[in-house]
Amino acid sequence: MSLWLSGIGVSRGIVIARVQKLHAGDLDIPERTLDAGDVDGEIVRFVGAQRRAREQLHEVRDKIPPGTPNDIAAFIDTHILMLDDRSISDTTIGHIRSQHLNAEAALRKTRDALIAVFEQMDDAYLRTRRDDVDHVCARILRVLLRSERQLPQKADAEPFVMVADDITPADIILLSQQHVAAFVTEYGGPLSHTAILARSLGIPAIVGLRDARRLLREGELVIIDGEAGHVLATPDDVALAFYRDKQQQQRQYRASLVKLKGRAAISRDGVHLRLLANIELPEDAKVAEENGAEGVGLYRTEFLYMNRKDLPSEDEQYEAYSRIVSAVSGPITIRTLDLGADKQVDSGRTLGPTPNNPALGLRAIRLCLKEPELFRVQVRALLRASSLGRIQIMLPMISNLQEFRQACAAIDAVRHELIGEGHRLAAQVPVGAMIEVPAAALASPMLARHARFFSIGTNDLIQYTLAIDRVDDEVNYLYDPLHPAVLQLIGRTIDAGVDAGIPVAMCGEMAGDPRYTRLLLGLGLTEFSMHPASVLEVKRIIMDSDVGRLRRAVRELLGCTELQDMRDRISALDA
Ligand code: PEP
Ligand code: MG
Repeated sequence: MSLWLSGIGVSRGIVIARVQKLHAGDLDIPERTLDAGDVDGEIVRFVGAQRRAREQLHEVRDKIPPGTPNDIAAFIDTHILMLDDRSISDTTIGHIRSQHLNAEAALRKTRDALIAVFEQMDDAYLRTRRDDVDHVCARILRVLLRSERQLPQKADAEPFVMVADDITPADIILLSQQHVAAFVTEYGGPLSHTAILARSLGIPAIVGLRDARRLLREGELVIIDGEAGHVLATPDDVALAFYRDKQQQQRQYRASLVKLKGRAAISRDGVHLRLLANIELPEDAKVAEENGAEGVGLYRTEFLYMNRKDLPSEDEQYEAYSRIVSAVSGPITIRTLDLGADKQVDSGRTLGPTPNNPALGLRAIRLCLKEPELFRVQVRALLRASSLGRIQIMLPMISNLQEFRQACAAIDAVRHELIGEGHRLAAQVPVGAMIEVPAAALASPMLARHARFFSIGTNDLIQYTLAIDRVDDEVNYLYDPLHPAVLQLIGRTIDAGVDAGIPVAMCGEMAGDPRYTRLLLGLGLTEFSMHPASVLEVKRIIMDSDVGRLRRAVRELLGCTELQDMRDRISALDA
């Protein structure tokens, strides 16, 4: 008999293959009190296990095939850095020495304390690093306990669906070389590393499917729908025929997208829309253009500051920005660092005390204005790189005009300083505001008179507008890009930009989600910035759309007084 199961679909695609389970190998951690004479030996045992774990990760890294997206290797590098982090090693050695604990129990104590800190964090990205701590500590623990988790060794080339409690980035890389066709995990959310990596590698995945290992049988045939989050076990012939047909359609669709790479995103009625890429590492810039993006709409510079023990120097930043400029011929929007409160750097230097509501605290532009030297170093590097290409500077988390002006004055001061030193700079480096706080969207007509461009950050705009933490599972169901309040704020921001004659882009996830492309076109958006992998699909929709018709339809639907009526009309935009 067939069985339907539902989880969270995080990486699209239809797969029909047999189940292979990854056994949890839950770790049974013994606790012992050591004799004083055994303490030094235990520390040596811990350090040896740490070294072996590091070697294992280097072995995985060496197996990454050339041409794989850079964020894949970056996940492994994050784990290698974390392995060496003093908050893991020094604290564990401290527990062994002071409490005479065995290495396994000492490491568990360290891990539990670190996880508790990460779990309190308010930031989506950093909350996912809780999993990193867990994975890294589990790797050392497995070496200590001599309990390697065995990945299936596939001698044949038959694709399979890996069903597991959770999968580490390293395991994903190894499995991707073994004909894994899809992942189903019991834990994790849309922002988990399993999800991000699966998307990058183009492997369909479903996470958060509780009890998957109990409900699915080894070797059983299953259909995976990575978009809907559905698993259909032991499908009948009708279901098999239906999904085989769907699979075939998807293959043809993907093949047709590749042909759009060199083409401009021009709608049926002749409107040219600009498609840009969001990048996190300078190396991603090249991939962005290869995927058909016309430039970079968001470079998240905070990644330059994370996973390291010191702050990046001006020269190091200049070098990173120059690398992007040399790889991209189009415009490049570089966001000044969005760090602070919960996003502490690893240099041991805290960026202020951790407040109760970090998302509402000292972060992004607020932190830069409070720490002028931190900002100055970054702006010097940015302005110096401006002589090499089309750089524009974007300020995150702007909530009022005063803040924007203050930041512009600081940038101007740096410009004069550099000119005084004899540097050559671009004549114009446009400075724009990210609109991701509801107050900024409401005050956008005022901000538009001073900013040279806007970029709407829907990830934060939605969470602040609806007063929900986007990573809190309890309130996730309220996260709704189509909420009328959100649509009004987006519409107001675009209108303010148009009235003032400045470009308005969107760089939140909504911009790269094909379900919203027509709605955004109808709201008047002209620049879309997204993960490079989404560019071609959004381009296809744009090329099939009539922007004039969409603008009229969306203007009308925004006037709806019945929610269902509005939603029906939004769905009808795709017809
Ligand atoms: C956003 O908030 O939409 C955004 C793009 O910024 P981040 O996801 O980095 O907070
Ligand atoms: Mg944001």
